[in-house]
Amino acid sequence: MATIDPQPGIMDIALYEGGKAKVDGITNVVKLSSNENPFGPSPAVQDAVVRSVHELHRYPSTDHASLRSAIGEVHGVDPERVICGVGSDEIIHFLCQAYAGPGTEVLHTVHGFGMYRISALAAGASPVEVPERDRVTDVDAILDGCSERTRLVFIANPNNPTGTMIGLAEIERLAEGLPDQCLLVLDGAYADYVEGYDGGARLVEQRENVVMTRTFSKLYGLGGMRVGWGYAPKAVIDVLNRVRGPFNLSNTALAAAEAAVRDTTWAEKCRNDNTRLRMILSEALAEHGVPSDTSTANFVLARFADKEEADACDLYLQSQGLIVRKVGGYKLPNCLRITVGDEPSVRRVAFCIGQFKAGAR
Ligand code: PMP
Repeated sequence: MATIDPQPGIMDIALYEGGKAKVDGITNVVKLSSNENPFGPSPAVQDAVVRSVHELHRYPSTDHASLRSAIGEVHGVDPERVICGVGSDEIIHFLCQAYAGPGTEVLHTVHGFGMYRISALAAGASPVEVPERDRVTDVDAILDGCSERTRLVFIANPNNPTGTMIGLAEIERLAEGLPDQCLLVLDGAYADYVEGYDGGARLVEQRENVVMTRTFSKLYGLGGMRVGWGYAPKAVIDVLNRVRGPFNLSNTALAAAEAAVRDTTWAEKCRNDNTRLRMILSEALAEHGVPSDTSTANFVLARFADKEEADACDLYLQSQGLIVRKVGGYKLPNCLRITVGDEPSVRRVAFCIGQFKAGAR
């Protein structure tokens, strides 16, 4: 029998590679490769998850009303404009499913998050990559890269894997300059790390062409639970809900996320710890001759002389039980992305990079 071909574009999708979690032959590794919260979720999450076990025979809520209202209260947003998904990955997917398709283009920056390309191709659209300026999102390059076929523009702010971000005035200029029929998606996976930044929520309320995505996987420490959310004009929410599966989030995931978002004390403590530890890490790296851009997220992009040095350092760190992320797939072969861990792991990774620069192999 002949093989059955998938839709055009599907075989152009390179499988997503997650951060490594183990090294052969080494036990007790410290994983600093997936930008996870080293302190885990709020202690309140555990009780909520245990309680949810009594509801395992029941289908979950289809409209996520309770979680949306908690998000509304805590983030100061309108619950009617919130949609929840299986990670923010799923919101990205809904956007591409609903707004892109054959003959359309989806724009992202050269060092933008890998799921933009995957979801665009899965929807039959053409991903288009635009340059950055010194690893910072370049609004003019994005506007230049738009055509009448562009339907979605994704920017992560702060960006992964560079850690850099642009200001709200620049974002507004971008939203203002986009062609008609084009949505700007502000991916705020790391926005919770930036004190006083709303991820673009106010802009979403003022404009018809701006959407924001957020996640519980980073500051809220729930990467394993898979919950994210989107904030959008009501008309867009109505569209996205039509492509969303009715029971996309489990009872357990909904309960965990609600407990997590309501514990603002825990979130603030994690944010402050991250800011302090990120500073320790980037300063120590600079002292060892390894520069990094100013990061506003929970990771640092360490720059080495070339790919060979970055690869050698990666191997040395692995031999010491430290797993960081190679970002060659993001066309940054001379860089390693290092998640800000707890204090012992931050000090250890900085110490080992110092040893490496001093000649240890
Ligand atoms: N956007 C960015 C920029 C990310 O780095 C990530 C996770 N690596 C995501 C979205 C997706 O996160 P999640 O699906 O866990 O919410």
